[in-house]
Order: sequence, then structure tokens, then C-alpha cells
Amino acid sequence: MARISLRNLRHCYRHNPAAESDWALKRFELEFPDGSANALLGPSGCGKTTLLNIISGLLKPSEGSVWFDERDVTSLAPDAREIAQVFQFPVVYDTMSVYDNLAFPLRNRGVPGDAVDRRVREIAAMLDLGDMLDRRASGLTADGKQKISLGRGLVRSDVNVIMFDEPLTVIDPQLKWRLRSKLKELHRRLGITMIYVTHDQTEALTFADRVIVMNDGIVVQAGTPVDLFERPQHTFVGHFIGSPGMNLLPATLDGGVTRFAGHAVQMAAAPGAAPVGAQLQIGVRPEFVSFAGTGIPVNIEKVADAGRFRVVETRHEQSTIRLLVGEDTPLPSERAFLRFDPSFTYLYADGWRQGGEPG
Ligand code: ADP
Ligand code: MG
Repeated sequence: MARISLRNLRHCYRHNPAAESDWALKRFELEFPDGSANALLGPSGCGKTTLLNIISGLLKPSEGSVWFDERDVTSLAPDAREIAQVFQFPVVYDTMSVYDNLAFPLRNRGVPGDAVDRRVREIAAMLDLGDMLDRRASGLTADGKQKISLGRGLVRSDVNVIMFDEPLTVIDPQLKWRLRSKLKELHRRLGITMIYVTHDQTEALTFADRVIVMNDGIVVQAGTPVDLFERPQHTFVGHFIGSPGMNLLPATLDGGVTRFAGHAVQMAAAPGAAPVGAQLQIGVRPEFVSFAGTGIPVNIEKVADAGRFRVVETRHEQSTIRLLVGEDTPLPSERAFLRFDPSFTYLYADGWRQGGEPG
């Protein structure tokens, strides 16, 4: 196990980067604490695989360094890094049995036979592969093969980190749900630093204690699921996470007062002075908007049933504001007023949250 630090990292696949957009990973610093369960979450093309391959050593970063604890591993080859990596598509030896596939990483390290056997059976049981150990891998479905890949990633207990790159892509939806909670349980039992890459917020939030949200080659926020939900550092986190995402409303700021359409709105933290010329937005999640006797006047436009809640879509002039209302709470008539919970209402300038930490 190890703490993994990325220092001053930057990566470009081209030889002569000219524009900022040429960089697949723009400069950033990041640390994965020893034994932590992390998810790298972001849309396709944001740089997740690039980052993973830099940590595993398949890719050498254009700039910066990779550290495992106090050791600079930037120039170490992948097999010298003592890591396990599970890819998006299965990597198995077709001619070998399921058992031998799982045993391979251990035998390769000279682990004694009885210890191999114990470990293989333990991992196989966790992945429901226990009754197919004697079968040849070639006969298995895509699901089965990917479970072997996962098993091969999990079988060594002496690795610094286990990395999963969208490992459930080829798995059918029902099994996906089960494997996801299995991986979480495995992390608890093994205590190894894990990095799980996904573009799916549900997957990230179920698996990880710490979620690193990436967009366009940068880290927009690293935090607990609660941090991302309650204190989005960037509007991208606000709308990418949550369903529906955060309301983002055009804002003005003068004399320390933030306004939406002329109405003063109270913020979680004093916004200070916003950068000159920046685009200002108020961000508040639908969970923190409610109907009130006074406040921002709106028309109710649409009501959608979402199980225990209804998503109510309202309008003030050009702006749509969504809020969640409990299924048993009566809705006001067509015209109503909205209140934003000040503890969870933020001002963003060019996408970034203003003011210090709230409270
Ligand atoms: P993700 O895994 O988040 O989908 P990637 O790390 O694969 O993103 O890609 C990040 C960016 O780098 C994308 O713009 C992609 O087109 C580019 N890229 C990825 N791999 C290569 C490569 N081998 N050569 C050139 N560009 C690449
Ligand atoms: Mg990828």
C-alpha cells in the first residue's frame, strides 16, 4: 500500500504543444491517501485514462513527477511499481483455466502453492467464480471474463495501488449493481489504495470515499460525496453531479450584495470582490430551494414525479429554477415565491465558487 502523489503534473500527446487545449492533462497536484477508495469521475475525453496510465507507468508524463510514499517512481517501468490495473475490456489468458488465470499474478511472484490456493479461492468466492475454477476462460461470457480480470487485479495483497478503468462497461446492468457493492466491500477488507475510473456518478459515489471530478484535463474538485453535493467548488460539479443538477442563475454583485434579477440573495459565504469582467452565477441545488411566503416570484411550469419527490420546474423571466418537493407536500397555485437555503447557496465567477469555506 502507498500514498500516491502527483506533483506539478502535465501531459501532452503532441510534440510541440502550442495552445492550452493541446494538453490532455493541464497542470495539477493531487494526492491519494494510503488505503483510500478514490473515484476519478468525468466525461469521456477529460483525461482519466491518461492519468491512470501515468500512475501505472504505461505513460511517462511530459512534465512533473509521480510519488509512491517518499519514492519518486516517475522513471520506473510498470512492473517495477507493484500495482494492479484492471482495464475497460477483459484481459485474460483464454487457454488457461479460470483458476490458473487468477493464480497467475501470484505464481509469477513466487508465492507458495498453498497461499496461492487460499487466495484464489477467497477472491473467486467473492466474485461468484467459485464453481467455475476448472473451466477454461475461453468458454466464458464477456461478464465472466471481466470478473476474471477483476479477480486478477484483486488477488495480490502486496500491491501499492489497484486501479480500475471503467471496469464495468461490458457487464450487464444487474450484475453491475452487485459488483459495484462487492468492490466497495473488497476495499474495506483489503484496505489497499484503490482508484476507480468512471463517467457514471452513481458508480463513483457508491464506491468512493473520495471523488475526484475532472473536466477538460483539470481537477475541478476532490472531496467526499457530501462535499461535492453540498459545496460544489465549480459549476461543472454542480450540474454534473445530482439529478437534476444545480440551478445556475445569472447574478450581479455590488457592495457585497449578490442579486438575481434585482432580488438580493443571501450566500453561504461572503463573496468578497469578484474578478473584474467575470461571468457571475448563483448556484443552488434543487434540494435547497423551497416554496415560501415571500422571495423570488415564479410561475410553476412543470411537475415531474421522481418517486418520493417531485421535481418542480418554475420560471422567473428567462430563468428556469428547479426544486424538489416531497410527494405529500401540497404545491402552491400557479404563482409562487421561492426561498434559497442560504447555507447552500453560492456565488460562482467564471465557474469557480467565490468566498471562503462557508460557516
Ligand atoms: P478519458 O479516459 O477521460 O475518456 P483520455 O485520457 O483517454 O480520456 O483522453 C484525454 C485526451 O487525450 C482526449 O482528448 C484524447 O483524445 C487524448 N488522447 C488519449 N490518448 C491519446 C493518444 N494515445 N494519442 C493522442 N491523444 C490521445
Ligand atoms: Mg478512458
